[in-house]
Amino acid sequence: MIPYGRQNVDQADIDAVVEVLRSDWLTQGPTLERFERAVAERCQAGHAVAVCNATAGLHLACLAAGLGPGDLLWTSPNSFVASANCARYCGAEVDFVDIDPLTWNLDARALADKLARARALGRLPKVVVAVAFSGQSCDMGEIARLAREYGFRVIEDAAHALGARYAGEPVGSGRYADLTVFSFHPVKIVTSGEGGMVLCNDPGLAQRLRDLRSHGITRDPARMSEPSHGGWYYQQVELGFNYRMCDIQAALGLSQLNRLDDFLARRRELSARYQRLLGELPLQLPTQQDGAESAWHLYVVRLGEGLESRHRQVFEALRAAGIGVNLHYIPIHLQPYYRELGFADGDFPEAERYYRQAISLPLFPDLSDAQQEQVVDSLRRVLA
Ligand SMILES: *Cc1c(COP(=O)(O)O)cnc(C)c1O
Repeated sequence: MIPYGRQNVDQADIDAVVEVLRSDWLTQGPTLERFERAVAERCQAGHAVAVCNATAGLHLACLAAGLGPGDLLWTSPNSFVASANCARYCGAEVDFVDIDPLTWNLDARALADKLARARALGRLPKVVVAVAFSGQSCDMGEIARLAREYGFRVIEDAAHALGARYAGEPVGSGRYADLTVFSFHPVKIVTSGEGGMVLCNDPGLAQRLRDLRSHGITRDPARMSEPSHGGWYYQQVELGFNYRMCDIQAALGLSQLNRLDDFLARRRELSARYQRLLGELPLQLPTQQDGAESAWHLYVVRLGEGLESRHRQVFEALRAAGIGVNLHYIPIHLQPYYRELGFADGDFPEAERYYRQAISLPLFPDLSDAQQEQVVDSLRRVLA
């Protein structure tokens, strides 16, 4: 089976991990700080805080943004459940904004309409999680403008988008988002096994993220309620978590980061080849908006008019042919947990229509040209 995604771990990555295993620091050591600095530099961000996974990163980002009980977070229904669950961890409510029919990202026009209605009702969101679906940012310029007008915080869920650019800037630079979250899960752009990172430019937010990552404990005398009792002393100043990344993971992530440009180049090349090879088939192919340079985490096609009724059959025939297709995503609001909270079929029709047509084709740096041609040939045969 050709998988839909796969990590690429080379000897340099393995050597970097082994080096940490032989060192004094398996966790809370110098490699973690080097990884954080390297990602911050790459993304032109002021601060980067590594965490054990992006789900934890989204949780901390929401807390740092001040999200709590009684507040509202809005996100895209076309995402992994973590993009919405982060609100629930904070005791906040979730709502969704339907997707753009071409980019399959949260639709900034739908957001503007919904905000106008929410203002009339007095139920504005405190946070909007803008998911960079498949590696392409949303219309972040417009979302940032709306954030200023309506006073919400923007968290970019950039789990798919390490190395992507938007309007000439790296995703994570903080030009359009208060906080940006990356994932280093093995199917994502670079991996640390499990891992994530939260980027921001506000030193206050960065301090909150660091405190909450490690139990809410501080060793800084300036932030303690009384003088230090001695060299052993620390204080827990709020309720935090253990969401730390360890140095073993950071070593893998840092080594992988050295190869980010190669990974991105191959993903871009394979995506351009798909666009060419699939051009004649009855499919809707991915659209890039002006100024966006996707990291191409996913390559999704939508079955064209009239083929919707064959969606499941096409998917299963491809799997039977050894093509490890997948589907990103089942609309979050239709998950039983969210239905229980009151969401129903028909709430976000564009995301639901997309779900009835979408198929993710294999895309990862080691996918060979021959394998890609096999994917295209299988798809052509199945659709014929
Ligand atoms: C993978 C993913 C996450 C969660 O990442 P983890 O590191 O596995 O916790 C969050 N959001 C999106 C859009 C993702 O694809």
